[in-house]
Amino acid sequence: MITASRYFKEKFGHKMYKAAISLDVTCPNRDGKVGTGGCAFCSAGGSGEFASSSSLPVRRQIDDAISKLSSKVPEDTGYIAYFQSFTSTYCDPDKLRGALNEAVSHPKVEALSVATRPDCLPPQILDVLKEAAARIPLYVELGLQTCDDEVARSFGRGYETRVYDEAVTALKTCGANVITHIICGLPGEDKDMMLRSVEHAIAAGTDGLKFTCLYILKNTRYEKLYEEGKIEVLGQQEYFDIVEEALSLVPEDMVVHRLTGDGPKSILIAPMWTADKRQVVNYINRRFKDLL
Ligand code: SF4
Repeated sequence: MITASRYFKEKFGHKMYKAAISLDVTCPNRDGKVGTGGCAFCSAGGSGEFASSSSLPVRRQIDDAISKLSSKVPEDTGYIAYFQSFTSTYCDPDKLRGALNEAVSHPKVEALSVATRPDCLPPQILDVLKEAAARIPLYVELGLQTCDDEVARSFGRGYETRVYDEAVTALKTCGANVITHIICGLPGEDKDMMLRSVEHAIAAGTDGLKFTCLYILKNTRYEKLYEEGKIEVLGQQEYFDIVEEALSLVPEDMVVHRLTGDGPKSILIAPMWTADKRQVVNYINRRFKDLL
């Protein structure tokens, strides 16, 4: 495996940070097209809690994100405009084209990253992504979470795994670099099932992986089940034991963008070990020092 920091340093010649952006879009799993309640773990913010308000122009959101980061990062840092919340391609193609063009024109933006669902990539949207990828490095992040369709149905993902497989192929044809999100700790999954999802994403042709443990967030369907004692979360050691095994499956030239996520503290219910970011970073650095 290659770490994201090494990969970005080699590709861009310096560190890269993400400037999170919210587009004024929703998700077909919330507005009724595919479902109404969203995935059982997804917060009302659609995973965009770190981004600015979607009512602001894209350029302004990038400026805001950069000014928040600027005191903490080296001067020669480059930025990835990260369209993070909900389903960034669930909109009119011209709207997406306009937003991506606005981001590309920002002088500090050196790459784009677009988070979306594999079932929201119709041909006109793929054309927009292809145009963008011809201008600037483009990463597309797909929330697979699991390759087990039964587990996916249980949390309400709303698409079959074969749709993900087709999306990876289509995106790579467009010149996008595909990053796949995997959640470890989904109810109904044991370690072998989690590892199977990693193998599945690798076989499907993903370029990179992002791991996260299952968070229980306020106002999600999982909150209720957790409070009723019907589901559990992973402990820190248990989670990283699984990640360590998963990493042993990852090809040498594949980029691992994240070993765990960073749940928004204001709405985090469990697992609380994830709230102490410094402790988690120290643990990762100690445990994975030979890989990082
Ligand atoms: S597809 Fe993404 S944004 Fe939509 S409900 Fe699921 S996790 Fe949330």
